[in-house]
Amino acid sequence: MFAESIGTSGWLEIVDATIPHADDRSGWNWLKLNHQRCLDEISDRYTRGLHFVGYWHTHPERTPKPSARDITVLQRNLHEGGVPLQKLIAVIVGTDRAATGLCVATISKANPAPSIFVPLSMQTGDVLEPAQD
Ligand SMILES: [Zn+2]
Repeated sequence: MFAESIGTSGWLEIVDATIPHADDRSGWNWLKLNHQRCLDEISDRYTRGLHFVGYWHTHPERTPKPSARDITVLQRNLHEGGVPLQKLIAVIVGTDRAATGLCVATISKANPAPSIFVPLSMQTGDVLEPAQD
């Protein structure tokens, strides 16, 4: 997922997201992205002014949340994946198309526990309010 800017205003607008690729491997409840292809896509988007902010994927559960494997993989990407970020956004799409089928979380390099900001019901074009402390 990509944004035009990574500001400090508390808002982040995702403007582009890549789709699954034939180089990726997946099963009913797992996904392994081709890391080099991901780095190539990040580099390509950067030349067009877009900043990589995180990953999206689906889960075969009604109300998704980051799995232990998700957290491990995202932490590994932050620490040794060649992505110079302190946090990654994880958007996970579940099977519930109503209220709780979407999870938006951040995974921090410094703290392995994810911060989960959403699930909520969304429509295309909806804007998420920043999480309040
Ligand atoms: Zn997952």
